[in-house]
Amino acid sequence: MKTLSRLGLACGLLLSFTSVRADPSAPADPSLTADSNRVSAVEYLYADVSDSNTILAAIDSGLLTSYEGKNRAAWQQFYTANQARLVQELKELPTSGLSPRDISAIAAMRKQMKGFTGGAVRGTQAAKCQDSVRKDIGYLQLRSALVACFVEIGNNLSFEGGRINRVSGLDLLHELAEAGRRKAVFLAFTPLWHAINGNDEPDSPYRRMIAGAVADAARNGSEIDNAARDLGTDPAQVERWLLEILDAWRTASGDVAVEPWDFRFRSGEADRLLSAYIPREALQPINQHYYRELGADLARMGTLYDLNPRPDKAALAYTEFLTHGRLVKGAWRPTIARVSAPYERGGLFVLNELVHESGHVVNITAIRNRPAFVDWPSDLFAEAFADVPAWSTYETAWQRRYLGHEAPEQLSLRALYSVVVLDVAWSVFELRMFRDPRSDPNALWTEITSRYLHILPHPELSWWAMRVQLTDLPGYMVNYGVGAILTAEMRKHIREALGPFDTGDARWYGWLSERLLRYGSERDTHTLMQEFLGRPVSPQALLEQIQRLQGVAARAHRSSARA
Ligand SMILES: [Zn+2]
Repeated sequence: MKTLSRLGLACGLLLSFTSVRADPSAPADPSLTADSNRVSAVEYLYADVSDSNTILAAIDSGLLTSYEGKNRAAWQQFYTANQARLVQELKELPTSGLSPRDISAIAAMRKQMKGFTGGAVRGTQAAKCQDSVRKDIGYLQLRSALVACFVEIGNNLSFEGGRINRVSGLDLLHELAEAGRRKAVFLAFTPLWHAINGNDEPDSPYRRMIAGAVADAARNGSEIDNAARDLGTDPAQVERWLLEILDAWRTASGDVAVEPWDFRFRSGEADRLLSAYIPREALQPINQHYYRELGADLARMGTLYDLNPRPDKAALAYTEFLTHGRLVKGAWRPTIARVSAPYERGGLFVLNELVHESGHVVNITAIRNRPAFVDWPSDLFAEAFADVPAWSTYETAWQRRYLGHEAPEQLSLRALYSVVVLDVAWSVFELRMFRDPRSDPNALWTEITSRYLHILPHPELSWWAMRVQLTDLPGYMVNYGVGAILTAEMRKHIREALGPFDTGDARWYGWLSERLLRYGSERDTHTLMQEFLGRPVSPQALLEQIQRLQGVAARAHRSSARA
């Protein structure tokens, strides 16, 4: 996840910017500055406002109480005054006589500013889960209330006389050997499901929310429309591709039907075999080791990792800018990123997520562009790219090098792609809920999961309501489902151009920075991928990965037949 709502709490830390010295003999890179001096001045004001916006978010996350010697009130004051000035100065810019690149920079600033919260919490702090039953609140308020349910209830599930959070609950579904305990931890989510979807009645909180999401999408477009555009296609084609992927899994994964509380366990044998080698305290050293060998030194990047659980912390892992890289007196002052996650435990599933978040870190840290474009690429590209290094954690070569132990290939592939196809299933779920918001979500989820994932039907349970994104950003799951298509494409192309990188390759980061990452928000994903691959995107690379599962199974079967 690349970003999320803000929550409050305070500890204390004071940090300072690091900077890179300029080579005075090097010519200034014109791509890092505006063509017009007037635009340039506005753009640097934008950079200050943008930094104060993300610094306020870091303070409100509970990680910092102050930054660069300024406390929250001072940053708030700075933001408010300068944001107003920025709005005015953008208005006063000339509308003709500017270069095309300056014009697109102005458009980017206007668009990105719409996402600034400036420390004004997006309704989350005030939102209470109990508000989700109220029928008199609007779409945005309802969404915030449902996100609050994930914090209030999801961080506080009852299991075996104790309390666990949602991430740990999912993790335990991979690990608990006794079916009865797995069922118990699965059913520990019931209060959350009930808060999100009531008794699955036509005006349940989720069903009212999705109706609001569809109305909003009619005015502003949806995440699904955006993802289709970023692929250079339309939602109908996206759905066909997603179904092809699900169908490949249906065929490759065998035909044993399992209970929903057994699905992750059956797929998670690799996680179990390796969990002893990935204690909680080993997560970050392993993550850093891998990235160092990909040519990206996370420690030197100054990234802030905030990985310990706190009671009212965001319920899922996310990455965000703390400050945005920019040219200062001819020297590039790098982007500083911040990662937040509530990790109680170690294990491969969690490690994979941390490597994914660090994929976001190296993505935004690689951006070298003028301030208007030092921002996230599309959601689709960001999520897809973060998995390019993260998928390696389920390759045996990676495990051997970074864990000193490996799980059999078939088990690792099954563990990885079972998670991918679950995301694809959620993508299809959201696509269809958006197409017909009157659908019964429990019946729809049952249909998808029983047909393609061989999961026994439980339409009485709203067990699809496991992901915060379903309520925080309706339609967002498609960025993971479709993102997997791009991830497989990028991994394949890198392997063909540079060679395998599961055990590191010092050229990796520089090579990808140059070809994919340095543009930030300037390039649209469709153009970026087309130029990178030299052809349009297709689901073929991902289908080949899923079919590996069958190939490996067949090889294993042949070798055991010989033995
Ligand atoms: Zn992500």
